[in-house]
Amino acid sequence: MTKYIFVTGGVISGVGKGVATASIGRILKEYGYSITAVKIDPYINCDAGTMRPTEHGEVWVTEDGGEIDQDLGNYERFLEISIPKLNNITTGQIYKTLIEKERRGDFLGETVSFIPHVPDEIKRRIKKAGDGFEIVLVEIGGTIGDYENIPFLFAAKSLEAEIGINNVCHIMVTYLPIPGHLSEMKTKPTQLSIKLLRENGISPDFILCRGKTALDEPRKKKIEVYANLKSDCVISAPDVVGPGTADTIYVVPLNFEKDHFGKKLMDRLGLSKKKEPNWSAWSEMVRRISAAPNVVNIALVGKYLDIGDFQLKDSYLSVAAALSHGGAANNVRVNIDWINSKDIESWKTDLSKYDGIIVPGGFGSNGVEGKILAIEFARKNNIPFLGLCYGMQLAVIEFARNVCNLDANSVEINPNTPHKIIDILPGMQGQDLGGTMRLGGYLAQLKPGSRIEAIYKTSEVSERHRHRYEVNPDYHDTLEKGGLVISGKSKDGRLAEFVEIPGHKFFIATQAHPEFKSYPMRPSPIFYEFIKSCIKN
Ligand code: GLN
Repeated sequence: MTKYIFVTGGVISGVGKGVATASIGRILKEYGYSITAVKIDPYINCDAGTMRPTEHGEVWVTEDGGEIDQDLGNYERFLEISIPKLNNITTGQIYKTLIEKERRGDFLGETVSFIPHVPDEIKRRIKKAGDGFEIVLVEIGGTIGDYENIPFLFAAKSLEAEIGINNVCHIMVTYLPIPGHLSEMKTKPTQLSIKLLRENGISPDFILCRGKTALDEPRKKKIEVYANLKSDCVISAPDVVGPGTADTIYVVPLNFEKDHFGKKLMDRLGLSKKKEPNWSAWSEMVRRISAAPNVVNIALVGKYLDIGDFQLKDSYLSVAAALSHGGAANNVRVNIDWINSKDIESWKTDLSKYDGIIVPGGFGSNGVEGKILAIEFARKNNIPFLGLCYGMQLAVIEFARNVCNLDANSVEINPNTPHKIIDILPGMQGQDLGGTMRLGGYLAQLKPGSRIEAIYKTSEVSERHRHRYEVNPDYHDTLEKGGLVISGKSKDGRLAEFVEIPGHKFFIATQAHPEFKSYPMRPSPIFYEFIKSCIKN
């Protein structure tokens, strides 16, 4: 019988449910169980593809082309598995399916109602995602008390009634604020969240207490009494990123295990360990990320929107993760400076102090000229450069303009440009905007003798994609004559997948997003080699 662990969040959003879920998954994997994870997003969008990353964080791309909330990325990184798009459930998908079924006549004669049809469809999807796995983690996005959460909590309760309380467990991740004027950790918001969860018929089996510092005994006692739980079910989860911490989320499973969380969870679900966990490689990776002796400094040139007093670095989460994996494998810490491309346009930033420059993916014309200047600087000054997706398209534009002397641009930026070096190819035009890009894993053939072939140590590689535009095949020859090597192409030779400049310390760009296939102990080869070049630099 498959076991289900539901993870909900109390008090505030952004409390770290995703990392907690991923960490729990990793722990149970270490005990020998086959694990998968499902993310529920209670919004009406069918997927995250049309949402603004600066508001919602990065859009994660699955191997099968799903555009998903970034939490799925953490699940993949912690669990080292590929998770399909069906593991993301949104309110939009549920209603779309029900309405399509109703129109088809599947419910002929029936009234289609919120109860039972909505929770039934949610349960059907959760079970389908969990098919064949021993344990399924289900993270319900948002915060307890949100109106949007209700159908999902109802479905969780209903699944519990259906398969029995021994097969379902509930974890609430909560936050304990320390108001500045009191300097004391407060438990009241957590108490209220427990109350709200109970109003939905769900009693938490474990409370994970996030906070700036660890939970002390008196507060633990308060929560324990309020929640009617045994004290070992209240688990402290202090911040792991920031000054005075390990400064990496990968320490979380190790911290949980200090509290024997894995054993407690297995006990609750009537399971016993299938193997002895081995955390040695994981601990070494954590040690290197937080304490490797040397540091490389990377400029990540992006388009950053201020959100009030905050800036959301989450829009490039997987790039930062892949850099830290590449750093750990090279035994260096990676410091990322988030450079606003607008500041480069006005020459406010000096890029010469960096060991390497990255231009990541992006959309639209905002800030592109600054990114192009950064690429020109890296090319001319022999600074290691990695271009990802838009970063490759802009590198090609830079090369076309400054080496091939073409008045070139992408039609995404200027539809009337004389040389449409980045163009929309037939078949990609005139469609809806949701879910219609080139999405998911695609194979590239690597050029024999190229640097990229040496990096991947293979002649064919599959990376994930998310883009609408392509390097215009009509210009491949011109670019190659100018000295840009198109070192990876789609099988039919039409699409440029990798470009490189021979003789440069490291000048590689790809139409793909290799950051989506990088794991803490198994970095993406291209990120690993980029960091290696940055160290030499
Ligand atoms: N805007 C570009 C395109 O759609 C690049 C997309 C990206 O960087 N993910 O082709």
